[in-house]
Formats: sequence, structure tokens, C-alpha cells
Amino acid sequence: MFDVLATKAEEAIPIRDCDYTDEATGLLMCGKCHTPKQCRPFPNSDEAVYCLCACMKADDDAMRERLRQNEIEQRRNICFHGSDLIRATFADDDGKAASLTETCKAFSERVTGDSSRDWLLLWGDCGTGKSFMAACIANAAIDAGMTARFITVSKIEQHLWNNPDKAAVYDEMNHTGLLVIDDFGCERRTDYMDEIKFNLIDGRLRSGKPCVITTNLTLNDFAAPADLTQKRIVSRMFERATTFHVQGEDRRFTALKERAARSSSSSQATTEEE
Ligand SMILES: [Zn+2]
Repeated sequence: MFDVLATKAEEAIPIRDCDYTDEATGLLMCGKCHTPKQCRPFPNSDEAVYCLCACMKADDDAMRERLRQNEIEQRRNICFHGSDLIRATFADDDGKAASLTETCKAFSERVTGDSSRDWLLLWGDCGTGKSFMAACIANAAIDAGMTARFITVSKIEQHLWNNPDKAAVYDEMNHTGLLVIDDFGCERRTDYMDEIKFNLIDGRLRSGKPCVITTNLTLNDFAAPADLTQKRIVSRMFERATTFHVQGEDRRFTALKERAARSSSSSQATTEEE
């Protein structure tokens, strides 16, 4: 087994013309970074095997980091699927709604820290920054190596419409590390949509994974469901959800949009200059 590994290492380590043997140790040295390309793993043996020198180790680490960043970027694209909120992070928060920020950061830390089963329901008027905060939580989860989806019920309906394998669509929503259901309750009310909502909420709850829901509905709306189906949806949703009333003006999203507009106009300027 050791011989096989040693042979593989020897094949993987390129020997360059500038490499040399260190007279004192007898080990092959890298001519570029002057650290050993060989080591002696056994204390009682002179046998030397090939290993990564410092510069090859640094190249290897850099390549791994690039691959990791690519993977993260792919996950972000899948998560946000064309949404403006793809770059929303807690760093963009203007800090005007301190308790909202605190709640969302604490939730984010629990989710990324110990595979929390918590749900968070952010409710309040349009444009108060609920979606922004939910997107910050999703991005933090992705940065921490999790998968996430930021999606509306209407979007899920479209996926179900376009996909003959309905179970696969629900599976994806159940298996993702963090699910954000944005703008819950803004979709049209039909029996079909209610069924989708129930399947979604019920499936996610059974998965034992965290979920963030944003909604313009009030707690009074939830407390007075229109019919039995609505009641089933709401009662499942509130089994694990902590609620937070989001109030005030959404200045974070405005700042993010302005920044995005600035960067696109500056890249346009660069293109025009070329
Ligand atoms: Zn080297």
C-alpha cells in the first residue's frame, strides 16, 4: 500500500532541471522555493518519498480555493436564479433596524453552526427589507458551504408546470440546506396553489431543515385562515417558526440596487473606452 502511494506521489511531483540534491540530507530540493521535494516518513529508515515542496503546496492550495469559490458561485446562481438579491450580504445592511439585523444574524449563525431545524417568519409591509434580510441569510449559508434556495411559491408552481417529475421539484426544496420562501401569500389563491403550499411547507417541515419565510400577510391574517386548507398550512408553518415583525423603510435594498447600477454603468464606461 505504501509503495503504491509512493509511486503515485513520484508520478505527481514533476522534477525540474533547476531541482538539486541537498548535500546534508540527501533529499531532492525544489530549485524554485528551496524546500524539500522528498521526505523520510519512517524514523528508522532512510527511505525517501516524494512530497510537495512549499511552492507546489501553495499552487495546490490556490487551485483548491479557486474550485471552492467556483462551487460557491454555482450554488449562489442556483439559489437566486436571476434575482437582484444574489449579492445581498449583511455587510450591505445599513444597521437602521438593529433588532431585525440581530435576529437575522443570530438565525444565520444557528443555521450555519449546528444544522438548526429553526424556521424564521419575517412579516411586514412591502419594501421593509424582509427579502433583503432573507437573502443575506441565504448568502451566509452558501458562504458557509451549505446549499440554499431563494424562491417564491409562484416560481415553484412554474417548475412544477414545466417538470413532468413533480416529486423531483419538491425533493429539491426539501433537500436544500436552507430554503427561503419569499413573498409567501402574494400568489393567487386557488385550490391548486393551496395544495402546492401545503406540500411545500409540510415536506420541508418533515425534512427537519431550516426555512425562512417572508410575507406581507399579518399575524392576524394567519390567525384567521379562510378555510380548512389554509388552516392546515398555517398550523404546519407555525410548528417551528419564530416570527419577527419587520417595520420601516427598506433602505438596504435601495443601496444595493444603487451599487449594482453604479458597477454596471462603470463597466459600460470601460467597454465604451475600449
Ligand atoms: Zn518549490
